[in-house]
Amino acid sequence: MNKVYSINRRRFLELFGCSCCSVFLGSCGTVPITERKQLTLYPESVINRQAANAYAKFKTKAKLIKTGQKLEDVKEIGKKIQEAVTIFFQKKGSKDPKKNFDWEYVLVENKKIKNAWCMPGGKIAIYTGILKVTKNKNGLASVMGHEIAHAVAKHSIERQSQALSIQVGTQIADIFLGGAINRTRNTVGQSTGLDIFKIGIMNPFGRKQETEADYLGLIFSSLAGYDIRESIKLWERMSEAKKGKEPPQFLSTHPSSKNRISNLKNWINEIIIKYPPIKV
Ligand SMILES: [Zn+2]
Repeated sequence: MNKVYSINRRRFLELFGCSCCSVFLGSCGTVPITERKQLTLYPESVINRQAANAYAKFKTKAKLIKTGQKLEDVKEIGKKIQEAVTIFFQKKGSKDPKKNFDWEYVLVENKKIKNAWCMPGGKIAIYTGILKVTKNKNGLASVMGHEIAHAVAKHSIERQSQALSIQVGTQIADIFLGGAINRTRNTVGQSTGLDIFKIGIMNPFGRKQETEADYLGLIFSSLAGYDIRESIKLWERMSEAKKGKEPPQFLSTHPSSKNRISNLKNWINEIIIKYPPIKV
């Protein structure tokens, strides 16, 4: 493998280095591409099943958009990323980290919610509100690439493994209903004393995971043929939207590092060269 990170090798290791596995020898996984070691005590099959159940429940409660160009865009971007990533790992001759995924995409009708998420196993939701921020396919691909990266890098398994001693109930599914993220968080927190987002099947991810999802997300979008330079504009629009009456919920579930945009700027040119679009 050539030294793609050579320029920023030290910075790169600072961002992704991890010593968490030293205590749990044998329960350690490796994130594809970044090769960061991660704790994987929790079985993928279990978390994928929990997520699939939560997602099925979510779909019965949420107002979904069933037809139209916006939905087609979501599906098209998802499919392109999915296929490009599959071919990428095939060509590399390495194990496909998402081989147990059962991809699904929904577009949720809610203009007030500027959010998107991907549950373990490739269960994705985009809210119409965030389309005002993503603006175009490249912007939407940035968001979706980032979300897909969280799933491919198994960040939820890592989170769950870190919180294994804490029981997680089926009420997790309710988190997603209505999108009142912080309200749900506070309500559940008051009655149980738990911060369900820290132990749940998805949010919030830690800063290191966010950075990793930014990085892998760029790679995945680039492989799928999208213009990843748009990601900078996207995050600029995101912070602009923060000043408005309805700040993006996406930001509350995606703690932003102040270095986020400068990281993206550092990575983009290398990634465009190293991970060009894959012909499907
Ligand atoms: Zn994220």
